[in-house]
Amino acid sequence: YRSENSLSAAPFINSGGKIPLGLKTKGLRIVVTGGAGFVGSHLVDRLMARGDSVIVVDNFFTGRKENVMHHFGNPRFELIRHDVVEPLLLEVDQIYHLACPASPVHYKFNPVKTIKTNVVGTLNMLGLAKRIGARFLLTSTSEVYGDPLQHPQVETYWGNVNPIGVRSCYDEGKRTAETLTMDYHRGAGVEVRIARIFNTYGPRMCIDDGRVVSNFVAQALRKEPLTVYGDGKQTRSFQYVSDLVEGLMRLMEGEHIGPFNLGNPGEFTMLELAQVVQETIDPNAKIEFRPNTEDDPHKRKPDITKAKDLLGWEPKVPLQKGLPLMVSDFRQRVFGDEKDSST
Ligand code: NAD
Ligand code: UDP
Ligand code: UDP
Repeated sequence: YRSENSLSAAPFINSGGKIPLGLKTKGLRIVVTGGAGFVGSHLVDRLMARGDSVIVVDNFFTGRKENVMHHFGNPRFELIRHDVVEPLLLEVDQIYHLACPASPVHYKFNPVKTIKTNVVGTLNMLGLAKRIGARFLLTSTSEVYGDPLQHPQVETYWGNVNPIGVRSCYDEGKRTAETLTMDYHRGAGVEVRIARIFNTYGPRMCIDDGRVVSNFVAQALRKEPLTVYGDGKQTRSFQYVSDLVEGLMRLMEGEHIGPFNLGNPGEFTMLELAQVVQETIDPNAKIEFRPNTEDDPHKRKPDITKAKDLLGWEPKVPLQKGLPLMVSDFRQRVFGDEKDSST
């Protein structure tokens, strides 16, 4: 038995997640749903580098083959075009469940599909985890706190969410996904982990996904005005993607279920973010105010005490260092500039 070629013919179905003695190989078998997306593809890179065998399951709604193409041809890597709303049979040790559009523009595009992905998709992946005894990690979101009345947000806060608003398909979908995760843990003994991810940015974000960092960076590069919604005084806390991936892996490997906030506590108003983008890309970039979207949370900042204490994790990359790393990737993709290949 070799992990390299046994992805679909693994011999220990129903092994309760424990690999029989003598069969322990150097790598784990891991599914990453949504692995062709922004966060997923960076996670896949780290797992592949560690020597694991990785199966990416993605329907390519917002993901791209380009994000994982560099693993094609590696016998430890497999890519399956599959929608998690449909059942799936696989044998693996761990499931990182990321499949779900994350940008408000994308998740509002087909809200019913977003709910189905969060509810039916998560149910299927939990059913899979239960059958094969795999450990399951859910990537939930800071949006479960809604427009928060507590600041910064602690994991014990239950949130302030509009159940009938335009963001509900995502917020309530993720809240239900968390509920399902805990019920499979309590009811079926599935080993679970829950991460509540705060705004994350970095290379490979969709250029026109409507999120604020990708918008500002693309706009500054194209010499277009930076579009600030509302008065620009609303806040977010921006985490560089490598910090998030480190947190997700520590959470999966650790002993604690969570939920854990994973985010960078550095808090910025959208006007301050625009300023950092100006300093990084183009000091002459103009700012243009636009009406804000419905139900936009006024502020958001993670309390990460729990992750610090129990996972020994905290972000290392401040916005001023992370933004330039993303800019060189965006520059290449916006202009196809072959001279700039630093990421
Ligand atoms: P993304 O849109 O880049 O990636 C999502 C991936 O899931 C894409 O590859 C997409 O094609 C795939 N997908 C969507 N629906 C699917 C379905 N029904 N079946 C199979 N695949 C499907 O977004 P991301 O930023 O990489 O986010 C990844 C996860 O992290 C999501 O669950 C998101 O909710 C969560 N999250 C992200 C952020 C952030 O700031 N990036 C913040 C909070 C939570
Ligand atoms: N499921 C799956 N793959 C599996 C096992 C289950 O996709 O290997 C799906 C299954 O189709 C079902 C869901 O997960 O829709 C929940 O499964 P579970 O066994 O918990 O519930 P049940 O099938 O009894 O409703
Ligand atoms: N935003 C903005 N200009 C843009 C896109 C977004 O000012 O071009 C604001 C948006 O109103 C929100 C914040 O930036 O207050 C973060 O939005 P994003 O869509 O990135 O993520 P969210 O945290 O809302 O999910």
